[in-house]
Amino acid sequence: MKRLDISKLDVAALLGTDACVRCGECTLTCPTGGEAQDVELITPRGKLLRMRDFVKRQYGLRARLFGPKGIEDDELEEFSRRVYECTICGQCKVVCPAGLDTIGFWENMREFLVANDLGPLPPHQQIVKSIENYDNPWMQPRTQRPGWSKRLGKEVVIGDSLKERHEVLYFVGCTAAYDPNIRAMAEYTARVLARAGVDFGTLGNDEGCCGSTMMRTGLSDSTKGMVLRNIERFEKAAPALIVTSCAGCYKTIRQDYPKYGKLPAPVRHITEFVGDLIESGKLVPEARVDRTVTFHDPCHLGRHNGLYDQPRSILEAIPGLRIVEMERNRDDARCCGAGGGVKTAFPELANDISELRVADAESVGCEVLCTSCPFCYQSLKSAIASSGSEMEMVDLMELLWQSLQAPR
Ligand code: SF4
Ligand code: SF4
Repeated sequence: MKRLDISKLDVAALLGTDACVRCGECTLTCPTGGEAQDVELITPRGKLLRMRDFVKRQYGLRARLFGPKGIEDDELEEFSRRVYECTICGQCKVVCPAGLDTIGFWENMREFLVANDLGPLPPHQQIVKSIENYDNPWMQPRTQRPGWSKRLGKEVVIGDSLKERHEVLYFVGCTAAYDPNIRAMAEYTARVLARAGVDFGTLGNDEGCCGSTMMRTGLSDSTKGMVLRNIERFEKAAPALIVTSCAGCYKTIRQDYPKYGKLPAPVRHITEFVGDLIESGKLVPEARVDRTVTFHDPCHLGRHNGLYDQPRSILEAIPGLRIVEMERNRDDARCCGAGGGVKTAFPELANDISELRVADAESVGCEVLCTSCPFCYQSLKSAIASSGSEMEMVDLMELLWQSLQAPR
């Protein structure tokens, strides 16, 4: 039996969930609660009602008059598991007619779980240790961080933003820097930037994890130091613009960093920046790419940041490309299943959700599934393999690069 500490809980926001009209829209579209497994407690409505019930049992009027009721450990463990099965995709926020800020609730619920020693889960804790010890979630030495750029030829010059000033600071992100299956995302980003003549550099060995994993698993309090260290490096680099190719880094730096300190430059996702380079004529995709493609909207790019047109405008600029939309696209796009620490703690669940997304893409007859986030890429690529699909998984910058290969 446990007495809950609600000091970290946004009780006012929780009470605001009275506005929930129990319409069930969020349940129908929740990738983990309504689609991959039929468990009421994981649905948005289920979690909100249970959380309210816990608070009522210990802090409500009856509790004040007759004493609080303890909550059984297994009830809390089950609740914690369900809260961490949420990918924080934001679909429930989009469909909720009561306008509830569910994304904020889910992140706050995790902070509450951490304050009560009910989170993060053991697989998350390993990642947290790695971030604390190595400054990346993949237990890789700091000196290996720039290893992604080894295959680039001499025509791609990547500056050291801590030694000399460059207009653009490219924040590579841990996954593209270290995962050998994802490194191509960073490579093609660098090739595209170099082709456009952009003066850019990176933080090299000194780039630190953006802190997204820690924040999404409820450890915001522990991220302050790493966020401030990164902001200090940004200040030293003094770029005119920070560009990320990871949707998770983009959301974190753009939306979360300003809560800790002032950013010295605006942040843009590579799709925004490159979209503008094409529009201004600095990049001209000329070679035909005669393939049928569909774009998967990463949650952190789409629902969390409203970037839907930018990646599509890049695809539209590629001659020969036939673009088809999946039935669920833009703010209705089905999540890939990887976010919110789900792939780390529940890899099978994450893959089940990814396979649903691969089936969405298969159903519109495309040859290429394209995205612009390393986590979506990683997750969908393995689901393509596990579901026996023949589709090709491609990062948007790689696809664009194919069209930039025409003789100039
Ligand atoms: S954020 Fe996504 S996974 Fe989480 S409860 Fe909402 S719809 Fe479900
Ligand atoms: S969509 Fe909103 S109003 Fe409807 S059940 Fe879910 S939380 Fe409640």
